[in-house]
Amino acid sequence: MPKKTVLITGGAGFIGSHLCDRFIKEGFKVIAVDNLITGNKGNIAHLAKNKDFRFIKHDISKPIRIPGQVHYVLHFASPASPIDYLQLSIQTMKVGALGTHNALGIAKAKKAVFFLASTSEVYGDPLEHPQKETYWGHVNPIGPRGVYDEAKRFAEALTLAYKKVHGMDVKIIRIFNTYGPRMRLKDGRVVPAFIDQVLHGKPLTIFGDGRQTRSFCYVDDLVEGITRLLFSKLTGPVNMGNPREFTIRQFADLVVKTQGGHKARIVFKPLPKDDPKQRRPDITQARTKLGWEPKVRLEEGIVKTIAYFKEHINNGRK
Ligand code: UDP
Repeated sequence: MPKKTVLITGGAGFIGSHLCDRFIKEGFKVIAVDNLITGNKGNIAHLAKNKDFRFIKHDISKPIRIPGQVHYVLHFASPASPIDYLQLSIQTMKVGALGTHNALGIAKAKKAVFFLASTSEVYGDPLEHPQKETYWGHVNPIGPRGVYDEAKRFAEALTLAYKKVHGMDVKIIRIFNTYGPRMRLKDGRVVPAFIDQVLHGKPLTIFGDGRQTRSFCYVDDLVEGITRLLFSKLTGPVNMGNPREFTIRQFADLVVKTQGGHKARIVFKPLPKDDPKQRRPDITQARTKLGWEPKVRLEEGIVKTIAYFKEHINNGRK
């Protein structure tokens, strides 16, 4: 049987590059599309010589013609850290809106399954806790996070419109905080920020009082969940993330302990505007309908992530 083809936008990014690895391993042909504004070719360099892998440097916010058959389109391109989408606000809106439109267009033309990477940010600073997929969210459209939140909300609506109007097979995942190797050391998110600070002997920067909560999912667990949803009959949206919840203060202590320290040295910085006070996924749907739940404990995943960052600090990669 000829190999099936998966097109992954954002294929040189953090999650996208892990998906490239997974689908190559599963015997697919993979086309990675990325404009490299937050992605990094180093993440896919090891695939460059593989005959089943192709990289196209392109901004998916602009139309593109892809020759040949495509069976699955996975739309993962987007800046995804709060610092990135503040700096790249227009690109963030464009890739969520025009990029989703173009990726849907490819899937429609190729009669492919379309998979949208959405986000827990659609819930904003949530008033319901933990967050179920039925919750409509509490989003400030004109706040600093609005460009990301609203683009992803638009992307979800557009994806479902394509399903309704064109009868397409679509899937939507809402991804909660995910971490692991290939995050950018300086992307500003709390996991790389704390690891970078610990490795350089600097105090940890806690924004606000550190009582805000997040729950952290290791990237391998997420990739497993994505493949299960892709090959299922579900449309979603389906929450995926780790339901074990930490305050940022607890997380700081965990990172320091992992490196052999006792208690974190902290500098407190102002809490950014609209920073969600709490976030934890209700993953009942993924558990009951896909048999999926995270397996990697934070203590274990952080060790692997620190090992990656140590290697890449030495390699001088930012
Ligand atoms: N945060 C922090 N120090 C940092 C970076 C982030 O205290 O150096 C906090 C941030 O204010 C937020 C949480 O950690 O409450 C998670 O932030 P991140 O940027 O990782 O992603 P978010 O979940 O807010 O999208």
